[in-house]
Amino acid sequence: MSNIANTFGSFGAEGAKTTAQAMSSGDWIKFDKGVPKLIRILPPLAGESLPWVLIYQHFIKVGDKRLTVNCPRKMNVGPCPICEEYDRLMATGNPTDEAAAKENFRPSFRAIARAIDRERPGMVRPVGLSGTVVGLLNTIVKGKPPAVQGVDFTHHEHGYDLLIEYLGTSPWYTAQKVDQPSPIASSEAGILDIAAKMKAVNLADKAKVFDYNVLQAKLAELLGGGGSAAQPVGGFAAMPGGQPQPALGATPGSTINTSKAPF
Ligand SMILES: [Zn+2]
Repeated sequence: MSNIANTFGSFGAEGAKTTAQAMSSGDWIKFDKGVPKLIRILPPLAGESLPWVLIYQHFIKVGDKRLTVNCPRKMNVGPCPICEEYDRLMATGNPTDEAAAKENFRPSFRAIARAIDRERPGMVRPVGLSGTVVGLLNTIVKGKPPAVQGVDFTHHEHGYDLLIEYLGTSPWYTAQKVDQPSPIASSEAGILDIAAKMKAVNLADKAKVFDYNVLQAKLAELLGGGGSAAQPVGGFAAMPGGQPQPALGATPGSTINTSKAPF
């Protein structure tokens, strides 16, 4: 019987707690245009080197349908059929194709962090941050010594809340820390509660990528026809696009990705 006993695990209070935490982890924090949002980006958990994972995403919008997937090529995991479509469109020499490529097929940088929306305290939720925001937050951490010392705004006791606003036009986002430091929660028990909830928001999962064939099938389905990803195209420039956003705020002068992030 010992073989059977070794086959199964158990489900008890600890498992129920993990399940409940996952249920309460909530949806992504979103930024509405023109509405500053006060959030606290949470520190890395022990064993993590960063408070976020750094990814590249494709965000494709066709009519009411959307596809948001991580890009295996830009993340150095493998080939990407969506990037191949981007390359193909950019190479035709047709301005309409080039516009369609930039509108729908270029991967955009994102950092995915765990955060608390101060209007909904007690919930740990994922938040997607554009390159613009990450560049601004990196500046806060690095400072400009000796005049300005860098600060770890994520610190659980003496870090800072952040005020982030999506502007809708260039430079797209503003992000700054508030004047006064604060803990992530008002009591030690509250801080430990947040730490426990953080474990239910698995950042590594956010960086997973689909296999090439899966991506190709998703793209074909989105583009409606069941054909290969290489067939569609051309008309994308005429489709309603989302809010323009820069692909990489940290690289001034780079061309912009006109897809709206899902965050
Ligand atoms: Zn790609």
